[in-house]
Amino acid sequence: MEQQLFDYTRQAADGQTCTAHAWAKVPAPLNKPEREALKRRAAELLKARGAVLVAHYYVDGDLQDLALETGGIVSDSLEMARFGRDHAAQTLIVAGVRFMGESAKILSPEKRVLMPDLDATCSLDLGCPAEDFTAFCDAHPDRTVVVYANTSAAVKARADWMVTSSCALEIVSALKAEGKKILWAPDRHLGRYIQEQTGADMLMWNGACIVHDEFKGLELDLLREQHPGAQILVHPESPASVVAQAHVVGSTSALIKAVVEGTAQEYIVATDNGILHRMRQLAPGKTLIEAPTAGNSATCKSCAHCPWMAMNGLQGVVDCLERGVGEIGVDEPVRVKALACIERMLDFTAALKQRQAAGLVPGIGAA
Ligand code: SF4
Repeated sequence: MEQQLFDYTRQAADGQTCTAHAWAKVPAPLNKPEREALKRRAAELLKARGAVLVAHYYVDGDLQDLALETGGIVSDSLEMARFGRDHAAQTLIVAGVRFMGESAKILSPEKRVLMPDLDATCSLDLGCPAEDFTAFCDAHPDRTVVVYANTSAAVKARADWMVTSSCALEIVSALKAEGKKILWAPDRHLGRYIQEQTGADMLMWNGACIVHDEFKGLELDLLREQHPGAQILVHPESPASVVAQAHVVGSTSALIKAVVEGTAQEYIVATDNGILHRMRQLAPGKTLIEAPTAGNSATCKSCAHCPWMAMNGLQGVVDCLERGVGEIGVDEPVRVKALACIERMLDFTAALKQRQAAGLVPGIGAA
């Protein structure tokens, strides 16, 4: 089956968002009084509209602070989904990328889900069109379909399981123990890492995150020589040559925990640099170094920061709340099918947490 390849620097004829389009929509930097005024306005509106802000670790630091200061959350995509579902607010403002807003809507159809910019998407989502993916699945009916959270609602609707990087290892291990063969999509690096760790039979889609795909093993090796005491923290969406050098491989939450609880003074971090904001807040005395993305003459599309995450800004939150723009919708038949694979994951992780708390199973380590 032929997979569609995207040129993420160019706008596709069908209007799909590219990095150039995304960078052009990233809000201009604001001075301190402007930021403070917008933050105050957004906080007032969140309260007045009974809304809650659910933000990802990769978005702008002001948005992360606003979420925490107003009773919302800053977290990875698994916790964002749980929090939005369980919170009493009837309006969720999701600061992240489109699949996160869709997941919130799938889980809470009765709630209004708004996003600062509906064009904020993800290379993994773009690189796995539902029609091609369905054909891929249909060609391998003997396999259990496991998709990463970073996919459209339509792709989730074709899947048996959704996973995030914080529970993928556990879920694939459990499926392997049941003798299941797996069809995995879309991130090839995360898929390879899970395959290596679990030994599961996995057929892979060939997608990648444009941010993590750019981390370079050779340059990381050179950087390590300059910082021999540093711990290397790597998100598993990174290439194998980078993962191989890691002291800790994990989800965004796991990498933050590693900095907070680690005894080292220096940390080289291979994930989107938006995460450094929260790491600095939680571990103020520690030195954080961005992992290298390219050699001297190379160019990069993201340089360790996701252009689609960067599209989220304070003004966008104010616009959502003031004018009701940026509302996410998911067709009901698609939503119902996609819900099944997300709920399967949430039920699995809730049960696993209970068993781990009771000491019945060891934690096998979050991806
Ligand atoms: S950082 Fe990568 S995986 Fe995350 S939204 Fe951006 S492109 Fe997608």
